[in-house]
Amino acid sequence: MSTAFNCLFFYFPELTKAGVCMKALEDRIRAEGKILPGPVLKVSSFLNHQMDADFMMELGAELARRYAGAGVTKILTIESSGIALAIACGAALHVPVLFAKKHRTSNVSGDLYQTIVHSYTHGTDYTVVVEREYLDASDRVLIVDDFLANGKAIEGLLDIIRQAGAETAGAGIAIEKGFQEGGAKLRESGLRVESLAIVERMNAEGIEFRAES
Ligand code: 5GP
Repeated sequence: MSTAFNCLFFYFPELTKAGVCMKALEDRIRAEGKILPGPVLKVSSFLNHQMDADFMMELGAELARRYAGAGVTKILTIESSGIALAIACGAALHVPVLFAKKHRTSNVSGDLYQTIVHSYTHGTDYTVVVEREYLDASDRVLIVDDFLANGKAIEGLLDIIRQAGAETAGAGIAIEKGFQEGGAKLRESGLRVESLAIVERMNAEGIEFRAES
């Protein structure tokens, strides 16, 4: 972040870096997001395909700030679109980043934790695996992903954490689609979910965000 940008916080201390960063995320979603059938929010210009590396580091740092002191020992995400944000968050928290790999068959060896995840964007089920040697009962895991919609990806990762006997610190998400059930369901189950932007509505008239996102 530039010196001029940092000066903003000196003159306007109420304007926290976190607040500016997340306002910047909402602004970019409004400016660059495309709404596709599904509904799917396409943010391929900075988050999912082409990635704004500096911005990604800021998003990861903000998730890390929210989970500082939560005793996180490892970050778990799912390939492929969660990996960049997970790396950014892992670099800020100084913990390893592990990703669940998509597996071609459901026949996998005993050295692996495995679970089945329903893909929101592709409408199919797929198996994901994590090698047992990288996750065990001594871990306290932060789940990180780019999007939260119906919560299936996070449920799959929670299943893997359960199989490992590890603890879950919570979930950190870049964009939650608040009009879908995942966020509410996971929070009701007791999971801490932190989303940097929560889309309340998106349609031809524009995109609205939840005030506390
Ligand atoms: P869920 O499992 O919560 O239903 O969906 C989350 C996963 O689906 C994320 O890992 C993300 O890759 C993908 N996803 C869900 N909704 C969207 C969306 O609106 N846009 C994009 N780009 N990906 C999405």
